Amino acid sequence: METLDADYIVIGSGPAGQKAAIQAAKLGKSVILIEKDTYLGGASLNSGTIPSKSLREAILDLTSFFQRSFYGQEAEVKKISINDLNFRLHKILDEQRKILDHQFEKNKIRVIHGNARFINANEIVVGDYQIKGEYFLISTGSKPRNPIHVPFDQEKVLDSTRLLSIDHLPKTLIVLGGGIIGSEYASFFAALGTEVTVVDKKKQLLPLLDEEIGQHLQKSLTLIGLKMMGNVEIKNITKTEDGVVVCFNDDSCIKADMLLYALGREANVEYLDIHKVGISLDKKGYIPVNALFQTVVPHIYAAGDVIGGPSLASTSMEQGRLAARHAFGEQTHHFPTFYPIGIYTIPEISSCGYTEEELKRLGFHYEIGRAYYYEIARNQISGNDPGMFKILFHAETLEILGIHIIGRAATEVIHIGQVAMSYHARIDYFIDQVFNYPTYAEGYRIAALNGYNKVKHKK
Ligand SMILES: Cc1cc2nc3c(=O)[nH]c(=O)nc-3n(C[C@H](O)[C@H](O)[C@H](O)COP(=O)(O)OP(=O)(O)OC[C@H]3O[C@@H](n4cnc5c(N)ncnc54)[C@H](O)[C@@H]3O)c2cc1C
Repeated sequence: METLDADYIVIGSGPAGQKAAIQAAKLGKSVILIEKDTYLGGASLNSGTIPSKSLREAILDLTSFFQRSFYGQEAEVKKISINDLNFRLHKILDEQRKILDHQFEKNKIRVIHGNARFINANEIVVGDYQIKGEYFLISTGSKPRNPIHVPFDQEKVLDSTRLLSIDHLPKTLIVLGGGIIGSEYASFFAALGTEVTVVDKKKQLLPLLDEEIGQHLQKSLTLIGLKMMGNVEIKNITKTEDGVVVCFNDDSCIKADMLLYALGREANVEYLDIHKVGISLDKKGYIPVNALFQTVVPHIYAAGDVIGGPSLASTSMEQGRLAARHAFGEQTHHFPTFYPIGIYTIPEISSCGYTEEELKRLGFHYEIGRAYYYEIARNQISGNDPGMFKILFHAETLEILGIHIIGRAATEVIHIGQVAMSYHARIDYFIDQVFNYPTYAEGYRIAALNGYNKVKHKK
């Protein structure tokens, strides 16, 4: 067995591991990164964020989705095949993988492929290597939950990873789970013309959303043909010769060509032998950490999906970077209280800060400014899609407390509001600025005027 050592050992090459490894290298530390899969990049690059968003973009383009309000529904939908979608997907994945390889090379990060497992608090074993480190980061991410009673395969009963290898597009699809992953894929397939039914025990999709935004989403999805079966308990899932049947507790059943099981993910911890270093998992199977991303063993950090929510590539990157900075004594800040959440359903959604329901619960005296996409010139020019801006602000101090946007470009324009919020801006900040015209961002100004006029506050 060959022995190696480094200042920093990173286990897992997803967003958390990448940013931590690069940060440590930039601080002049020797870094070894371990990845069990052939491809670097984790779930984000290989089975999650990048593939799903690439497919979304391909679907929007190939179906001329945003042109429908001008030129009608039918257009291209019928001609699209899985090969058309995969062609674009694989081109993007190749490019992204090259960029990542180059970044690791440039920063002199040594990559070793294999499963890492701890033998003690200072050493891991990977294949034929025994590697000693000063600091460790566990960034092994998560995978789709595959309960034993669900008959998963590669063609009919799928999770979000298996879905990427289907060889044809389904005419009908059942999506189990109205969380982010389920809702995103459900809307993509609905846009493609597949008959989609989302099944969930909750009444509505994405209950984490501000309720008004959630209702707006539901309406928009109904317009593209998506059906929601809420408040149901699933009894069993059975494969048939030509598809899948899902039966419920009231003995009713529905069937479809394919099923996407999107009911949760779980941490990748099974190979790590973390019990050997005294780390145990929390009730949900994640690695507990403090606000600085240290486990109970202070020189072993954990970041990203393996520590539980919010389970986003965006947040994982920052967690990884902060963990590396703290390990090597660099000045750092705590993970931000407010950060944007981007949901790439069609239409997309992004929010930052409190929802209206949270403000009510906390007893805030708040007011709301709204702007609808039909009021925004840029939206009419680009396809007249449904959408809205909702800005929540304190009724006396006027400080912005929450921003929720549904509609085209929401995941981009949210950052304007996020920056304003991080400087504790008041709602009238948006009124006193000149915005490019015509833009989606103009929605901030319209919503701010709408809200400000309600409180008639003197500056
Ligand atoms: C369908 C889907 C869509 C998504 N869309 C978005 C989105 O739009 N925006 C967003 O911000 N987030 C999105 N996410 C979430 C995002 O992908 C994850 O939050 C992110 O990938 C987590 O990063 P990570 O670094 O913690 O782990 P991962 O990306 O999961 O990477 C962990 C890596 O560790 C490796 N590993 C595991 N165990 C070991 C071991 N013992 N030894 C060596 N290597 C190991 C794994 O092989 C993997 O490569 C999406 C996820 C999915 C599934």
